[in-house]
Amino acid sequence: MMAFQDTIKFIQDKFQSKDFIPLHAPVFSGNERKYVMDTLDSTFVSSVGAYVDKSEQMIAEISQTKKAVAVVNGTSGLHIALQLAGVTRGDEVITQALTFVATANAIHYTGSNPVFLDVDYDTMGLSPRAVSDFLEEFGEIRESGTYNKQTGKRIAACMPMHTFGFPVHLDELLQVCNSWNIPLVEDAAESLGSYYKGKHTGSFGQLGVFSFNGNKIVTSGGGGMIVTNNENLGQKGKHLTTTAKVPHPYEFVHDEVGYNFRMPNLNAALICGQLEQLDSFLANKRKLANEYADFFFESQGIIFRKEIENTKSNYWLMAVELEDLEARNAFLKETNEAKTMTRPIWQLMYRLPMYKDCFRDSQKNAENLEERIVNIPSSVRV
Ligand SMILES: *Cc1c(COP(=O)(O)O)cnc(C)c1O
Repeated sequence: MMAFQDTIKFIQDKFQSKDFIPLHAPVFSGNERKYVMDTLDSTFVSSVGAYVDKSEQMIAEISQTKKAVAVVNGTSGLHIALQLAGVTRGDEVITQALTFVATANAIHYTGSNPVFLDVDYDTMGLSPRAVSDFLEEFGEIRESGTYNKQTGKRIAACMPMHTFGFPVHLDELLQVCNSWNIPLVEDAAESLGSYYKGKHTGSFGQLGVFSFNGNKIVTSGGGGMIVTNNENLGQKGKHLTTTAKVPHPYEFVHDEVGYNFRMPNLNAALICGQLEQLDSFLANKRKLANEYADFFFESQGIIFRKEIENTKSNYWLMAVELEDLEARNAFLKETNEAKTMTRPIWQLMYRLPMYKDCFRDSQKNAENLEERIVNIPSSVRV
């Protein structure tokens, strides 16, 4: 029985292809070649160059933040952002288990422990309610910070992730975090071009981080960006990601343990070319999302995930929700066999061996979504 034939045909029609249709392929239709060739001609391909500065200005403007720091990838951006927010060894960081592994890894790199709380069903991202419940039960505000009464550890940050570009309930989450004096650091890796009440994701927390990996909405090959409205944190971020070198005409002076996390100019050139097209990519994807929404409205048993009230999604990876695990598995099998790439949402972080012993709450919504959410082809169509 071919249960999903109509869906496969619809996707093939939309992408005008009967060959392999990837989940998300990059499109280089602007000035990318010109800018990349520029860096070769200038010989400034590495860690110094005009495109690094330019890309930081472009991202600060797009995200409406005061300072952006270009980094080698989103994961290292998250690592440094947590460190800038004050997270240190032995702390706890609140996040969601329904995320890509980089979120949890970045927390781990700081020597702190992820605390996995449930997501909201409607956003698929960290639930303000779950955070509030956790803090009411375990939190204690002391002079040196907010502590977990049970573990004795400091709860040093809260890191929500805007799943597939759908913003979490930011007002409510910020309210909870503020009332417990816990800094918010947004994993906005998937949400460049997504807005909450007209304001760009990544600009709500003390810090936010975008990724420009090859599968994201725009790519620098590999790269990422830390954004913040705190100039001081922005400057510190630049310093930390550039080996903590003190400016000097010729001496090597480094005043703390820094990182070599700066984005190379070659990659920055690519992202500058890509960012010029962000608006047209967003419009292109929104059109596809609307067509999917209409189609799946007609199609029984499959729900297309649409942006919710007060939010604007970038529709980075489009997602459908199947009735149950069995239907999900059948859908994955049939679509992939027909060379139409689909992929289940991530396994929850506490199913992975390195995070199996971390604290987690009920995970009711996360487990429900884990069994039913599937991504479908979402590329910009040219
Ligand atoms: C892509 C991504 C990152 C960062 O990825 P990099 O490949 O290191 O740029 C972090 N978190 C999430 C949720 C992501 O999807």
